[in-house]
Amino acid sequence: MIKFALIDMDGVLYDSMPYHTLAWQQMMRERGIHTDRDEFYLYEGMTGKATIDLIFMRELHRHATDEEATALYRRKADIFVAMGQKRVMPDAQRMIATLMEHGVGRVLVTGSAQNSLISRLNEDYPGAFADDMRITAMDVTHGKPDPEPYLRGLAKTGVKPEEVMVIENAPLGVRAGKGAGLFTVAVTTGPIPREAFEREGADLIFPSMGAFADALPELLESRREGMENECIAEV
Ligand code: CA
Repeated sequence: MIKFALIDMDGVLYDSMPYHTLAWQQMMRERGIHTDRDEFYLYEGMTGKATIDLIFMRELHRHATDEEATALYRRKADIFVAMGQKRVMPDAQRMIATLMEHGVGRVLVTGSAQNSLISRLNEDYPGAFADDMRITAMDVTHGKPDPEPYLRGLAKTGVKPEEVMVIENAPLGVRAGKGAGLFTVAVTTGPIPREAFEREGADLIFPSMGAFADALPELLESRREGMENECIAEV
């Protein structure tokens, strides 16, 4: 039975990834560093510092200093904010409402340190994420794809790992969820092909947030029956 959902933010709750990728590319271009816009979809879930370091190693053949990473991430965040209000992911409010109706608890698990979105959660998803049920980039030593963010999210739930469902839109996020030993659902909301989620071992893959929201009531019911059948079998 699913008692808690650990829910990613960018690309799940907000249709923000197209803006993130453009902001990353513009920030790097300002510093004369070449990147492809779509490559940032592949790094989605990583902390800003880890993403900056990865590109420094490839393009400049050295690590970014903490000062550089802080300054560049701040610039990227400023560009992102200047792009204006990001829309709520279509059908995500319906998905969250379904979880709440079924009594499924929610923990936000994001690699973001982007306050412009985190501070909007209460408005866009009223009552969905209590202040103490949020794991952000500030709470972890190792970001996704390390399992740490989801293990910290799990620790907040107080339930067993098999009673938890991870909801992700990025391959590295799926890797983090599976690495934490959790049932992990991948929802396709960007240009990532299905195979990328299969490679990371996603338990279920949906082609859109609408498809996931449609399937969720039955999924929660079937997981409930499945667990009850297991209990009967054990008896
Ligand atoms: Ca994401």
